[in-house]
Amino acid sequence: MLKCVYNIKGNRIKNQDEIFFMEIYLAKTQGFCGGVSFAVTIVEKMLEKYGAPVYVYHDIVHNTHVVNDFKKRGVIFVESLADVPSGKHIVFSAHGVPPSIVQEAQKRNLAIIDATCPLVAKVHREAVKYSQKNIPVILVGHKNHQEVIGTAGYVQKELLSIVETEKDIAALSFPCDSSVGVITQTTLSVDETKYIIEKLRKKYPKLVLSGSSDLCYATQNRQDAVKELAKKCDFIIVCGSKNSSNSNRLREIGEQCGVKSIIVDSVDDFDVDILENKKCVGITSGASVPRFVVEDIVKRIEETYLDVNIHCYSDPEKNITFKLPEI
Ligand code: SF4
Repeated sequence: MLKCVYNIKGNRIKNQDEIFFMEIYLAKTQGFCGGVSFAVTIVEKMLEKYGAPVYVYHDIVHNTHVVNDFKKRGVIFVESLADVPSGKHIVFSAHGVPPSIVQEAQKRNLAIIDATCPLVAKVHREAVKYSQKNIPVILVGHKNHQEVIGTAGYVQKELLSIVETEKDIAALSFPCDSSVGVITQTTLSVDETKYIIEKLRKKYPKLVLSGSSDLCYATQNRQDAVKELAKKCDFIIVCGSKNSSNSNRLREIGEQCGVKSIIVDSVDDFDVDILENKKCVGITSGASVPRFVVEDIVKRIEETYLDVNIHCYSDPEKNITFKLPEI
């Protein structure tokens, strides 16, 4: 009977034959969400039609593979419109931009191509609606995230409060009997957002909200999928870049469900030895992660274990697409 096993790096990973077997459960949500697919396709079409360089304001989506591949093909990502020559096209990223950036682009005579996810644009419209009615607006989200910076710009400054945690609620100073509009970042934790909204409703009974929150379908589906993985698996790998909000939430949810969870940007970040003593691993990915990242991780596990059983499910999102703008 074999007594030890070596992984592809030649390291012994365990000295009992039971480790030859690994179960892999793949989350039902894989690959790009509709909004990421929309934004990435816009940049692809810009490259096809106009050739390099194509200018994009901020990373088109928060994934290093997508951004680095575009950079190699002549896409220039800028954080300031001053870096875009007058008269050129500028693509706005999937996270959206505040109106001040739109106005600056117009002043600089740039041709705007808007790749803002339509579900983020919907939150912008809600922000404008509340702001026009002159009612205070609470934006629930991470202050420095590009999407929140964009959405915040659609609310009059004096009406806006950003709530990131429960602590921020205590600091809100408008009267408790005010009507208050609430909007949210689209990629927050579903459970935490629900909790924050309940707390807000306690303080402001006249709270106005469109639906239960602005969290998008992709966020909800991915978080549901990771909870399902946590019921079956003793380890969870979340494929995603460190700056991806929705990927970070997936890792946190895995941990909150009591399952050790890690985030990896690519197979190069993944040390298969971490699976020592594990029997069943769940693999999921953020909404902007190309499918090959998950495939590479699966391949690495298959190269290491003698017997791997892979379970997958049909993707509930495969038919969700958004209409592209004229390019
Ligand atoms: S995660 Fe949601 S809001 Fe973000 S791009 Fe995808 S569909 Fe749009």
